[in-house]
Amino acid sequence: MKPLILVIEDEPSIFDNISYVLENDGFKTLWARTAGEGRDIFNAEEIALVVLDIGLPDGSGVELCKEIRKDSDCPIIFLTARSDEVDRIVGLEIGADDYVTKPFSTRELCSRVKAVLRRCPSISRLPEATIKDAKLFHVEEERNQISYSGTVLDLSRYEYQILKLLIGHPGRIYSRKTLMNLVWEEPEASMERTIDTHVKLIRAKLAKIKPGCPIKTRRGFGYYLADDEPKAIPTK
Ligand code: CA
Repeated sequence: MKPLILVIEDEPSIFDNISYVLENDGFKTLWARTAGEGRDIFNAEEIALVVLDIGLPDGSGVELCKEIRKDSDCPIIFLTARSDEVDRIVGLEIGADDYVTKPFSTRELCSRVKAVLRRCPSISRLPEATIKDAKLFHVEEERNQISYSGTVLDLSRYEYQILKLLIGHPGRIYSRKTLMNLVWEEPEASMERTIDTHVKLIRAKLAKIKPGCPIKTRRGFGYYLADDEPKAIPTK
């Protein structure tokens, strides 16, 4: 099944161009001309990613993005004519995954779409499997052990479970809440900040073995395992 990209944009010519390139690359596109239409389609279909124009006839794409974000992690890429809006859009406040400024090349938009899908939870809906294996890690489930770059890590139970989860889906971002629900037996009893503490400990253990940490933070979203060879950037 082709991944569905919802394009919410009031200008037909822009939609036509976007749609042409994306469909050529193995996606299926749906068109909404207004925020209202976009919301309806989003709720009715299983959308892999939203391309969202900021200036829409019945309101702002920003408001629609905030609304979608309340109960969905679906990746969103903004189309904007103003570069001064950019910080706000991709920052914590609004929570978009990326943006392109108008005028943009449809090729560029297409590669952004693929890049965002690659690092988001809907990765399974990418046309081709592009995620590389997290080769540096080796999980031995029967021994509850993980080695990193050939060295066995000394992990607590929760650290082991968090790391195992990240390794299982490189590039996928896990919010603290999701990690809590997946790893802890009684999530309500613990604080989401506990996750931060455990991730910090895992990072420290990895850093002892090799500089540069493959566990990344996506501000406002959560944690994920880098899907490329970790670069030698010192950890904080
Ligand atoms: Ca517009």
